[in-house]
Amino acid sequence: MSNQEIVSIGKKNYMSNYSQFPIAIRSGKGITVTDEDGKEYLDFVAGIAVNALGYGDEDEKKALLSVIESGVLHTSNLYYNSHAVNAASMLNALAGSEEVFFCNSGAEANEGALKMARKYGSAKGKSVIISFNHSFHGRTYGAVTVTGQEKYHKGFSPMLPDVVYAAFNDLDSVKALADERTAAIIVEPLQGEGGIIPAEKSFLEGLRAIADSLDALLIFDEVQCGLGRTGKPFCFQHYGIQPDILTLAKALGGGLPMGAVVAFSRAKGIFSPGDHAATFGGNVASSALAEVVLSKLPSLSEAVEKKGAYLGKKLDEIVSKHPSLCTEARGMGFMRGIDLKIAPRSVIAKCMEKGLLVCSAGYTVLRFVPPLIASEEDIDKAAAIVDEALSELE
Ligand SMILES: *Cc1c(COP(=O)(O)O)cnc(C)c1O
Repeated sequence: MSNQEIVSIGKKNYMSNYSQFPIAIRSGKGITVTDEDGKEYLDFVAGIAVNALGYGDEDEKKALLSVIESGVLHTSNLYYNSHAVNAASMLNALAGSEEVFFCNSGAEANEGALKMARKYGSAKGKSVIISFNHSFHGRTYGAVTVTGQEKYHKGFSPMLPDVVYAAFNDLDSVKALADERTAAIIVEPLQGEGGIIPAEKSFLEGLRAIADSLDALLIFDEVQCGLGRTGKPFCFQHYGIQPDILTLAKALGGGLPMGAVVAFSRAKGIFSPGDHAATFGGNVASSALAEVVLSKLPSLSEAVEKKGAYLGKKLDEIVSKHPSLCTEARGMGFMRGIDLKIAPRSVIAKCMEKGLLVCSAGYTVLRFVPPLIASEEDIDKAAAIVDEALSELE
């Protein structure tokens, strides 16, 4: 089928909650994808920070084939499976954490973390969760409530009670809200959908201190910025500040749906049997791919630290070359953005025409989240296309 045929079937049969670009992706190799009409694109979206190993990774292929050959794609959590237990122990070793709960998405990981926070607080008579403006935590009711952006709440009231919003990178605004009723603080160390906004070190240190002084849990949502994307296995490792709970998803399942709630010592043992569950959590196939992703994480992260600095440099060059269209470039590792003075969609469309996939974050930011295997040569190619696209829009 052609792009056009697939798009028209989609438009007829899907709910209209997405504004999708009119192509269908058929295949991929390395960091290049091909659409149904045979056009190739350099992919700096990676399925929104999911496809860390790019396309056609041989180890992913082997792992998935061996699962298929075993005949068992799914076991439920009534029983153990070797892939999920390995993935959990690898995660704990990499993060320095104690316990893992597997689920299927970022929103679901945050739901788990919020339930842990409420359970932790309920024994102490507290329930308030502090989150931040411009944050994004997912679309289920709990996750969307702690998402500090009005546009995601509009039309869906009432939200979850006892959630309050402070200003990101503004400790005084947190202190004004924090008291003995505070059960948890949830924050992205590097805000993604809100516009690629890194936390300041002093801000995260302050949150750690506030959480400690109030016996509240500090939750880091690293669904997007975790798993090597910023040049360390986890973003919190740049800051030297440990959360009590870490949430992960996106890249974890190597392209299959998988999320995780990761507990450090203070949050250990909050859930008892019956408290929380996910039928598909720790699914055999997703977990087998997670094993592959996690086994490569140390070397991938190290490479991203170097290549990410190069991407940052190229984006800075683009900003200084197009001051009438760009405000600034920011971000960490392979999670970066250019703040634009025009709607990102016009730049995205031009880049697509020229064979580059990029996406937006917030209303003004052009986002770059390539597969972690992207090379400096790939970055050069992508930067040249963005440069050309901006020149044509000036
Ligand atoms: C994408 C994202 C989520 C939501 O993940 P889903 O898998 O879409 O539910 C949550 N938090 C952050 C930081 C994200 O980037």
